[in-house]
Amino acid sequence: MFENASRTELTEMGEFGLIQHLAQHFESFADTTQLGIGDDCTVIQRDEHSFSLISTELYLEGVHFDLTFHPLKHLGYKLVTAGVSDILAMNGKPEQVLISIGLSNRFSLEAVEELYAGVRLACDKYKVDLVGGDTTTSRSGLVLNITAVGSVSKSSITYRKGNVKPNDLLVVTGDLGGAYMGLQVLEREKRVFMEVPSMQPDLEQFDYIIGRQLRPEARWDAVALLQELGVVPGVMMDISDGVASEIFHLAKANSIGFDIFEEKLPIDPQTVETAVSFDLNPSIVALNGGEDYELLFTVGQDQYEVIKNQPDFTIIGYVTDLVLKNQLITKAGNTFDIKAQGWPESQK
Ligand code: ADP
Ligand code: MG
Repeated sequence: MFENASRTELTEMGEFGLIQHLAQHFESFADTTQLGIGDDCTVIQRDEHSFSLISTELYLEGVHFDLTFHPLKHLGYKLVTAGVSDILAMNGKPEQVLISIGLSNRFSLEAVEELYAGVRLACDKYKVDLVGGDTTTSRSGLVLNITAVGSVSKSSITYRKGNVKPNDLLVVTGDLGGAYMGLQVLEREKRVFMEVPSMQPDLEQFDYIIGRQLRPEARWDAVALLQELGVVPGVMMDISDGVASEIFHLAKANSIGFDIFEEKLPIDPQTVETAVSFDLNPSIVALNGGEDYELLFTVGQDQYEVIKNQPDFTIIGYVTDLVLKNQLITKAGNTFDIKAQGWPESQK
């Protein structure tokens, strides 16, 4: 098949390039489509004052999760977190989820019940209704999909491309890099266990970061706090691929750059200790580690006093007019370019 056709490797295009390439020839027919591809959610006209939000995510065994260390109950919870997080990233209110599963005969009823016990816990936590999905057979491991639906008022929706200008503050919720280090620990323990099955891992000292990996929380509380404070961010997204990658999206969408201060990066002591023990730089882990499901947003300088007093919000940098130039100012005062993926480029 395709012997004579020219062949372009998908790896050359990257995920985002591929999506843009595929989407370019599609026309928009429905006048209720407010925003299609390109943000955390699709935005659809709901009524005069509000939009509906929709997001969908695919999770494959062996790519996104490893069942040798991911308990099914936690996996169900994490799936809902991922869906809900995209709704929150638009400053929205999550309302419904649809979940589709592809199961092989390796799974028993009890196993699927475990998965759904986690889904139910998350639905209770985020106050969302499970309203549909699809169930089918899989020949290649467990396949999961979540579609999350929500709503947002037209006056408080926050896009990736928005109202942002130089000197605006870049703010992050919670702490960074924990989920990535949790995964490093779990993968190391798995390797040890495969070699010496009698070895019982002692994971208690890693409880926080392992929890961040296996059972992350979506930041509904941060969105509620923003509302309480009367703050509507200029732009916002959730951190699924790591801050370095997400600021690249924000910079590109708004033709801006960011300066980030290493000393401001919020990193939990357990993340720091574990990174150091793995010979990794904790700041690089915080910038590049994915799956934290924290929120990243900008606010104007006039919100400085309001934001700085919130322990769960950290101002990590500010917006610059250097288009697509994202820089890390180190603790020693040196400046590095932050690459969209991977490690910061050579020192200037
Ligand atoms: P996130 O980082 O929030 O998970 P993604 O990187 O998965 O977002 O997706 C980026 C954008 O591309 C979203 O608007 C999403 O709906 C869209 N998208 C992703 N894959 C496809 C696809 N196969 N076809 C059409 N749109 C897609
Ligand atoms: Mg997202």
